[in-house]
Amino acid sequence: MLVVMHHDASEREIEAVCQAIRDMGFQPVPMPGEQRTAVGLIGNDGPVDDSTVIGLPGVAQVLHVSKPYKQVSREWKAATTLVPLGRGVAVGGRDVVVIAGPCSVESEEQIVAAARAVRAAGATALRGGAFKPRSSPYSFQGLGKRGLELLALARQETGLPIVTEAMDEGGAELVAEYADCIQLGARNMQNYSLLRAVGRLRRPVLLKRGLAATITDLLLSAEYILAEGNPHVILCERGVRTFDSAARNMFDLNAIPIVQRLSHLPIIADPSHGTGLRDKVIPMGRAAVAAGADGIIVEVHPNPDRALSDGAQSLFPEQFAHLMEALHLIAGAIDRRLAPSPARVELAVG
Ligand code: PEP
Ligand code: MN
Repeated sequence: MLVVMHHDASEREIEAVCQAIRDMGFQPVPMPGEQRTAVGLIGNDGPVDDSTVIGLPGVAQVLHVSKPYKQVSREWKAATTLVPLGRGVAVGGRDVVVIAGPCSVESEEQIVAAARAVRAAGATALRGGAFKPRSSPYSFQGLGKRGLELLALARQETGLPIVTEAMDEGGAELVAEYADCIQLGARNMQNYSLLRAVGRLRRPVLLKRGLAATITDLLLSAEYILAEGNPHVILCERGVRTFDSAARNMFDLNAIPIVQRLSHLPIIADPSHGTGLRDKVIPMGRAAVAAGADGIIVEVHPNPDRALSDGAQSLFPEQFAHLMEALHLIAGAIDRRLAPSPARVELAVG
């Protein structure tokens, strides 16, 4: 339930609405807006009787949120949320962001070369996994903390904010010390204790759609994060499993406009995991931006043939540069633009 106050409602009237909600056994969430304040109600699992608030002074309207998720819904908040990644980069505005880099951080040489290459082509942020959720326990599992240190070094070298995955609660705190944005992978989309843990951290979260998750499942998982107090969630379509094995996953472009209608959270797309095939990444990356995605996350490796994970879907740096040229044109055609690369941090001289 959302209680919309008159534009001239006083602080006292707003507090009286909050108290009425507390008296009903729920939690009020006051949301001051440019025109007027709204007070959301959370904690209910079903319809709420609005009769005690509807007649209170200063109340203009009571709206009932019809979806199972609340705080992530457009009914709750009309304007798209802008998620700041630091260094002047934000996701969810007119600018389309491009997060690029290798699947995994493998060495200092590899991550710094990747960061320089994607920065030169105009990327807005650097990706790279230090903790890798691999289907096989015998596959490369990532460099762990050392990988985070190398990402921080690559950030220092290039000025690109870093996005990297956390796989468990303890790991999330460690990742938050280094990363500008914590990625939760497809396999962890419904790890509810992890969702709650990142909800308590003060870092933006990139939440990827689960391998067999519906859009409602994805939004309910995001709700866990907002319910703990972290409003900065970026959703990510990365393909789902279907009966068709022609590509690694079925990249669901529908999810982009559907989510944008249902939720105020920004949504980006991952054509790398969505297709699993290098030659399909470029057309589907272009398609995602044309469909209105707020950004893409794409795997790029200085030497994909030697990559320790996801080499077959990783772009060569030259391919990435071509993709960026096309994305400039596509973004312009739909009245958006590619986000400019973040300003380099001036290094102290001396
Ligand atoms: C990744 O980004 O490298 C990754 C493991 O993605 P997903 O969780 O979407 O499979
Ligand atoms: Mn990968």
